[in-house]
Amino acid sequence: MRSTPVSSSPGDRAGAFLTVDLAAIVENWRLLKRQVGPACEMGAVVKADAYGTGVAPVGKALKDAGCTTFFVAHLDEGLTLRAAIGDGPRIVVMHGPNKGTERDFAAFRLVPVLNSPAQIERWRGFAQSNDVLMESLVHIDTGMNRLGLTAREFETLMHDPDGFVGLHPLALMSHLACAEDNTPMNGAQQRKFAAALETFRSKFPDAKGSFTNSSGIFLGPAYHFHFARPGVALYGANPLSGKPNPMIPVVRLKGKIVQVRRVDAAAPVGYGATYTAQDGEKLATVSIGYADGLLRSLSNRGHGYIDDIKVPVAGRVSMDLTIFDVSAVPDSSLGPDATIELIGSRVSVDDIAADAGTISYEILTSLGARYARQYLK
Ligand SMILES: *Cc1c(COP(=O)(O)O)cnc(C)c1O
Repeated sequence: MRSTPVSSSPGDRAGAFLTVDLAAIVENWRLLKRQVGPACEMGAVVKADAYGTGVAPVGKALKDAGCTTFFVAHLDEGLTLRAAIGDGPRIVVMHGPNKGTERDFAAFRLVPVLNSPAQIERWRGFAQSNDVLMESLVHIDTGMNRLGLTAREFETLMHDPDGFVGLHPLALMSHLACAEDNTPMNGAQQRKFAAALETFRSKFPDAKGSFTNSSGIFLGPAYHFHFARPGVALYGANPLSGKPNPMIPVVRLKGKIVQVRRVDAAAPVGYGATYTAQDGEKLATVSIGYADGLLRSLSNRGHGYIDDIKVPVAGRVSMDLTIFDVSAVPDSSLGPDATIELIGSRVSVDDIAADAGTISYEILTSLGARYARQYLK
């Protein structure tokens, strides 16, 4: 059978363009590194496909910039990253080993985070019976009640003479619940972590402490310990609530206008007829919807830009399409190649998150698979 080659480009075919500035990600990593100083190692959290930006290109760019430790959530993410960046860098899998996966952690040199007594016991059994001497991280809970050993479980482990047989802890870690807020809870968690780390280091003098995410880095030196784990700030989101963003924007998103119409009389727009266009209003239908990560909560609330003109979402965001009121835009800017900027110099990831009633994390990790993606080096 004769196969016909596709002659159009991905940019021709796609409904929207996503640009990821890898140089900006590297600059953000360097900025965070300067913020903590040389005593604290700077890792990079690249879980959830590097927060939607693409784990392979992002992993390679950060590796080339000198990042030697990457954090992912799942084993599969670790395997994908290992294939992309090769054997050199350390990859930490934060959810730890699920039952039956221990062998793959060892085979692909993925460092497990041990979150619970059950995970510790299983990993110890595996390491002992297979003579595996591999790094691991021990996670303790200091107030979030999500993952990690409770204070009592940690104490029991520390008093168990066989507790760490066959284990080789690289670091003790914990996670802040409210790092972006100014709240006494941060200090309380910091003190618990510092005390636990001291106990831990009485047994493992070389063990590091890993405590901060992006926002935690800006809480000051007492929070840094030895090993930082920033995620969202690398991708340009603001780690400081209510203050100017120190990070460089990374993501740009533009949707193509598929059709422009002018309504002759007041008329309903979109599913559920939740919006009424006025007589003479000009509407542009754009080829991007909630299946692409333009969240449905942006219905009648979000906005984009054409040149310097703000254009509001009109009606509900549908799966593949979103309608904008472009009455203020001259027809000359609505030609066949016209696009609407949805994330970019005029709408930050944090702005669109605020419009959608969510956080930048959800906007980034919802970025869709149907975009024509471009990576800037
Ligand atoms: C996701 C995650 C991070 C990164 O957090 P950001 O707020 O994105 O910087 C760090 N540590 C743990 C345990 C995480 O789950």
